[in-house]
Amino acid sequence: MQVAYITHADCMRHEMGDRHPEAPARLAAIHDHLLFKGLLDHMAVHEAPLATQEQLARAHTRRHVRDTLAASPIEGHVQVDPDTQMNAHTVRAALRAAGAVVLATDLVLQGEVTSAFCCVRPPGHHAERDAAMGFCFFNNAAVGIRHATDVHGLQRVALIDFDVHHGNGSQDILRDDRRVLMCSTYETDLYPFAVDVAGDNMVNIGLPARSGSAAFREAVSSHWLPALDRFAPELVVISAGFDGHREDDMGNLGLVDADYAWVTRQIADVARRHCGGRIVSTLEGGYAVAALARCVAGHVGVLVGAD
Ligand SMILES: [Zn+2]
Repeated sequence: MQVAYITHADCMRHEMGDRHPEAPARLAAIHDHLLFKGLLDHMAVHEAPLATQEQLARAHTRRHVRDTLAASPIEGHVQVDPDTQMNAHTVRAALRAAGAVVLATDLVLQGEVTSAFCCVRPPGHHAERDAAMGFCFFNNAAVGIRHATDVHGLQRVALIDFDVHHGNGSQDILRDDRRVLMCSTYETDLYPFAVDVAGDNMVNIGLPARSGSAAFREAVSSHWLPALDRFAPELVVISAGFDGHREDDMGNLGLVDADYAWVTRQIADVARRHCGGRIVSTLEGGYAVAALARCVAGHVGVLVGAD
């Protein structure tokens, strides 16, 4: 068992209304497709623990942690931002999602597995140090990264984000943290309408709508890979968002299934060259559930070496 699969039933209980695209059906589709493809047979399945307030506070303000926990409704929904709501189960789901990445980091850094995929929701990469936004409450990837640096003492952790939306929250938390290199691609002129994406430890490549596969791969090859090789990460964390797929209405990059398997292979090669293949991947976006399930299977397939 070289790859961990970390999830929890609580992540299915958070929902933001019948018509909201960030829905429990996303996780169900992924789980069913991984089973169908036989991939779960090759993975060590773990239940996600609840993240502690101490773990969350490495990436967020104490106020944000406290206010989020306190906002939980007993029934119905409370609105957090125009796109984001909480139900009675949201807090536990958000704590499981962040806790999954903490556990994944422990399993990988303790050598129990080579890599891990966290099949969790809510996603995290829009959650800033002091704010929930864009379907996200806690920044799962950043909480895991800070666990790796602050608890395990790592000096170089790479964060790779191929979600169609810019990971503004991850940038907000990790910018100027010299122990972290963030590499992303995202669609320009799309939520969260990022304009200030530069920074010494940031390689954020904006791509216009309808860029397609070739431009995406060129951005990865020309910008991410040389920066990653110079950085020589001790661990690679992936904010794995699949909403740049051409079947997904959230964006218009026009990527296809093969692009997600390709980029995963590039990342896996970086991880093999520098850190014994150590990868922690966590689900971000991806709302066309059939395409999402196929692309996650392609992504996980590379991790388990079944590709
Ligand atoms: Zn997204």
